[in-house]
Amino acid sequence: MHAARDGHSVERMDPATEPAPKVVKSDAEWRAQLTPAEYQVLRQAGTERPFTGEYTDTKTQGVYSCRACGAELFRSDTKFESHCGWPSFFTPLAGGAVIEHVDTSLGMRRVEVLCANCHSHLGHVFEGEGYDTPTDLRYCINSVSLRLEPEAS
Ligand SMILES: [Zn+2]
Repeated sequence: MHAARDGHSVERMDPATEPAPKVVKSDAEWRAQLTPAEYQVLRQAGTERPFTGEYTDTKTQGVYSCRACGAELFRSDTKFESHCGWPSFFTPLAGGAVIEHVDTSLGMRRVEVLCANCHSHLGHVFEGEGYDTPTDLRYCINSVSLRLEPEAS
C-alpha cells in the first residue's frame, strides 16, 4: 500500500459499516430525472465508451458532484492523466463520499465505486498500476456520472 504518501489519507469503507443511501428513488423516478445515457451508467452500472466522456481531459478547477443526487465526490486537484479514456482520480473526497463493492461481473474481480449518498454507479477503482500519484489507487469514473462545478476564480 502506498496510501498516505504526501499526507493524502485514503479512506476505504468497510462494507459492514456501509451507510444506507440517503437519496432513494424508484426506478421510474430515476428514469424520469436522468437522460438515457446517465440512467444506463448511474442506475444500471454501465460504462461509457472510453475517450468519449466530457470530462476525460478536463483540467478545470472545481468539485465533481454526483449527477444523480448532487453529492460532492471528487476534487479536481486529485484528478490525474491516466490516458485510460475516463476521468481518473487518486482519491475521493474525505468523509465517505463514495462506497466500494466487489464486482465479479464480466468474469473479472473489480471494485465498483458508488455514490454513498444515492448508491448510483460511478465507475471502478484499480490499485497498484504504478501511476506517479499520492496513492496507488485509480478511481476510474464515468464522465456521465459526474457534474463539474467550476470554482469561482
Ligand atoms: Zn449520488
